[in-house]
Formats: sequence, C-alpha cells, structure tokens
Amino acid sequence: MILAGMSLEELEDLTEQLHATKFRAKQIHNWIYSKSVSSIDEMTNLSKDFREELKNIASVTDTKIKIKQVSKDGTIKYLIEYPDGECVETVLMRFDNRANLTACVSSQVGCAVNCSFCATGKGGFKRNLNYKEIIEQVLSIQRDTGLKVTNIVFMGQGEPLLNLDNVLKALEIFNNDFQIGARRITISTSGIISGINRLAEMDLQSTLAISLHAPTHELRRELMPIENKYPLNELKTALKNYIDKTGRRITIEYILIHGFNDTPPVAKELAHFLKDLKCNINLIPYNSVIENDYKKPSNSDIMKFKYLLEHSGKKVTVRLERGADIDAACGQLRGKV
Ligand code: SAH
Ligand code: SF4
Repeated sequence: MILAGMSLEELEDLTEQLHATKFRAKQIHNWIYSKSVSSIDEMTNLSKDFREELKNIASVTDTKIKIKQVSKDGTIKYLIEYPDGECVETVLMRFDNRANLTACVSSQVGCAVNCSFCATGKGGFKRNLNYKEIIEQVLSIQRDTGLKVTNIVFMGQGEPLLNLDNVLKALEIFNNDFQIGARRITISTSGIISGINRLAEMDLQSTLAISLHAPTHELRRELMPIENKYPLNELKTALKNYIDKTGRRITIEYILIHGFNDTPPVAKELAHFLKDLKCNINLIPYNSVIENDYKKPSNSDIMKFKYLLEHSGKKVTVRLERGADIDAACGQLRGKV
C-alpha cells in the first residue's frame, strides 16, 4: 500500500486496522503532506514498533526522481519515474519578487493533441496519469527541496481536460491535504469544449487558462489540430457560458511566433475577438523546439503586439521565460531521458 495520496479518512481506516488511534493517522498525514518524508522510518514521533508494523503493509511512495536539472535562473526540472517505468517532467519555478513556489505539473504521459509548436505533442500520447501520480509530482518536489509548494499550474505535459476526473481528484487533494487553495491553482487547456462545459457547472475557485494562440479558424488550424474538432466560434460560446455560470475571469494564453501570429493585423484581430470576454491575456514568446521552423519574436515585436492588444482594455502580461537552458520552458518538456 502506498500512503501518498491517501486522505485523512483513509489513513484513519488504516490505523484502525492496526489497532492504533486516529491521532496516529493525523501524524502520518502530517509527515506525508507537510513534512514530505520519503520513508516511514522518518516518522519519528511514531513508536518504533508501530513503524515496523506499518512498514509491513505500506510504504510512503513508489515514485522516483530519475533526473534533476537546475537552471541558472533557479528553475528546477525533474524527470519523475512511476513504477511502470513511464516518466513525466515537473518543473519548480521561483520568482524573485514573490514568495511563491510554483509547480508546473503534468497530467498525462505524452499528449494526443499534437500542437505543431510543442515538444510534448511530438512524442504522441502514452497514457493518463492517475490522481496519485499527479500529486506525487508535487510531493517529489517537496521531498527534494524541503520546501512547500504554494502554487500549481497544470501546464506540464498532457491535456488536463482529457484526463479531467484525475485532475479534479488531484485538485481536491491539493486543497484538502496539501492546503494549497484552489485560487492558487491554474488549469491550462488547448480548448477541450466538453471539459470546459463540465467545469462551468462546478463551483471551482481555480483559474481556467485557454491556449488560444490565434484569433481565426484558419490560423489556429495550422498550429492546433484540435481546432478541427473544437473550432474557435464554438470555443468562444463555451467560454462565454463558463464565464456566465462561474462569474470567473479566465486567462488567455497566446504564443507569439515570429511572422506568423505576432503581426499588427493579427493583434488587432485578437483584440476584437477578446473584446467581449472577461479575461486577462498572457503572451508567451515562442520557445524553440528543435523539429520546426518557428522563431521567437523580437522584443520590439512583442512590445508592439502587447501595446495593440491593450487597446482591447484587457490586462496583458508577457510570460517570463524560465529554465530554457535546461529545456524546462513552456513547450520544451518531452519526458525523455
Ligand atoms: N495542454 C495544455 C497544458 C500544457 S501546455 C495546453 O496546451 O494548454 C502549457 C502552455 O505552454 C500552453 O499554453 C502551450 O500552448 C504552451 N506551449 C507549448 N509549446 C510551447 C513553445 N514551444 N513555446 C512556448 N509555449 C509553448
Ligand atoms: Fe498537448 Fe498542450 Fe502540448 Fe498542445 S501544447 S501538444 S495540448 S501539451
């Protein structure tokens, strides 16, 4: 039995089986999620006998850090390995001006959406992660650094809305067991309308981020094959419904690719498209991924695009590139050794 991922109630059932009090369950819970230990032996406020008993039937984790890379900007990338040998990448980002530690987690091994600009998509889809495998990524970071993660973004490998049951269950554990508030969690999607509709019916405090990347069907189709299944006009209707139902502001993510979707006419078209949506916009300068011809825009092109977009009256930010020297930036995660 693996303890990581178990709720307090499940741990209480376990301690009852072992004829121990509920208080023991609470202690174990604290060792797992707050102190982030990797072994039962480290749970030093449990008696040695009880630890031995526990060790006979359980261990803390079955997940390993296979590789760890540290960027010169402090970003850390982990290759996490599960018992079946499959791996995903998880990234820890620190921002100097904030006391936040943000974990960028993966929701699937690979991704079936296959966007043209993304390294994860290039490798194809392997399998979904279950909720325990998702939360193990954050535990691995906490065990390794001794620090508590404060924010989570589902922006690693995979499409979270194509594995929504596990993502929602992981969210619940992040809230209840890690004590990471839903407001500090962001789910990013390539625009899976069925999933957006499901989220619209829930009272979730988390932020929904949409990878838009183009303001027209024709342009978006070139980047994202998903545009054929869930076209922009239908996506927009779903987003409006989501905003109406939840009252929440969404985030629009927009990759800037030099000469493709970063020109002034496209900026104006995008501003028009977003005018009646309650949203903030996050521009992501393209990060290079070897297998294509896309190029990063120049700083002056980025600023011009931002300026034109601000005419829509929306808040526009440019995402800081993190960890590019270790291929940990957006779109560079491939989950390979
Ligand atoms: N599958 C989800 C979440 C993971 S991707 C989604 O697509 O939204 C997280 C963000 O990184 C997305 O906005 C994605 O479009 C962006 N991204 C992917 N490849 C990139 C690249 N090469 N450069 C910059 N951003 C990229
Ligand atoms: Fe999948 Fe997101 Fe990469 Fe597209 S950008 S291939 S949806 S992980």
